[in-house]
Amino acid sequence: MSSNTPVQQFDISVVGGGMVGAAIALSLSQAGLQVALIEKQAPVEFDPNSAPDLRVSSINLASEAWLSSLGAWQTLQQMRLCPYQRLQAFEQPQSVVTFAAADIKRSHLGHIVENNLLQLALWQQFPANLTLFCPASVATLSQTYDSALLTLDSGEQLESKLVIAADGGNSQLRQLAGIGTNGWQYQQACLVALVNTPYPQQDVTWQQFTPTGPKAFLPLSGQQGSIVWYEDAPRVKQLAALKPEQLTRELLKAFPAQLGEVEVVSSSWFPLARMDANSYYSGRVVLAGDAAHTINPLAGQGVNLGFADAKLLTELINSAHQQQQDIGSAVLLSRYQRKRKPANLLMMSTMDGFYQLFGNDIAPLRNLRQLALTVASRSSMLKTLVARYAVGSE
Ligand SMILES: Cc1cc2nc3c(=O)[nH]c(=O)nc-3n(C[C@H](O)[C@H](O)[C@H](O)COP(=O)(O)OP(=O)(O)OC[C@H]3O[C@@H](n4cnc5c(N)ncnc54)[C@H](O)[C@@H]3O)c2cc1C
Repeated sequence: MSSNTPVQQFDISVVGGGMVGAAIALSLSQAGLQVALIEKQAPVEFDPNSAPDLRVSSINLASEAWLSSLGAWQTLQQMRLCPYQRLQAFEQPQSVVTFAAADIKRSHLGHIVENNLLQLALWQQFPANLTLFCPASVATLSQTYDSALLTLDSGEQLESKLVIAADGGNSQLRQLAGIGTNGWQYQQACLVALVNTPYPQQDVTWQQFTPTGPKAFLPLSGQQGSIVWYEDAPRVKQLAALKPEQLTRELLKAFPAQLGEVEVVSSSWFPLARMDANSYYSGRVVLAGDAAHTINPLAGQGVNLGFADAKLLTELINSAHQQQQDIGSAVLLSRYQRKRKPANLLMMSTMDGFYQLFGNDIAPLRNLRQLALTVASRSSMLKTLVARYAVGSE
């Protein structure tokens, strides 16, 4: 592209059109802002006969409500998803603690959705004032006191009042903006497998805590499900290298009987990292979703936190836009950071507490978690509180 190509002007540029970035770009463009969305790879089109995406997420009621207000949830419902009414936690299969939607007078506690389909449902709502650059990625970033300039790999230049980095845990934009991080890689990793189950569609997601790490089942639509198996990283890599029939045998040996005689269709593994960006903004670049924080997926909260970031950030920007104020001001961005950073850190630390409490075989901790599960099973108030926490309402 020639250097004479004019710089394209937008109100906002969003880098990363995954679940969080696409929701942000959609919300801002629905409010009338001129939005550029830069994404490396478009979501795969929906085929009802295709196997589900291996990457699935548990979406809580708070996220569902916001995605409905954007019009994306209704589209997703016409594709494929699975509601669940019960959430179970146990160490021994004979002493299960059940949290039920009925305890909090709801029809369901959440849904298990395929990441690709949720992303696609958001993309299908994009209006004309959203300009999509895809496949595309960013080469350079420069900032002045009142704008940010992105140069894409194609040579195109985009100028806007604010750049929102939603480009995931390894965010390139976070690095270009000079924002450091702290955190660590957990010793455990997790194996994720898509399985066929012998049971009709299930309404329960469960997690068994064992000294070597949790083992979880997430129901999918029809007779399918997703299992998540946490173990030390070398063991997970070993399991991930097995053929589906071999992995099925290992799974049936290690998982509790309620899994049923499943059959592995496909599998993959993920390293687990905790990461917290030192700041959620720098100049006119602001971080959201995994670009700002990554959390142990133990309780399925990562993208729900990302949607909570996205909802607050877009509310602040849309309100500034309506009042004809600066949509990328330090005042606005610091208000966003003040609210979201402590909330995200609290959830990360809570998950670390769970990881320590449930992921080892030290005798005092074994007794403590037995006590925690017993108290939870007997206290209806505690069960209600946990259920409310799970749906994202407290
Ligand atoms: C095993 C596992 C299970 C999980 N289960 C759950 C769960 O049950 N519930 C839950 O809430 N969360 C869960 N999570 C976390 C959840 O997957 C993440 O929090 C979520 O994917 C973050 O979304 P995001 O849009 O911020 O980032 P990403 O999903 O990483 O999306 C980033 C996007 O940016 C694009 N991109 C990257 N770099 C560039 C670039 N330079 N230029 C342009 N585009 C770029 C990518 O292509 C991608 O589309 C789980 C995570 C794991 C690993």
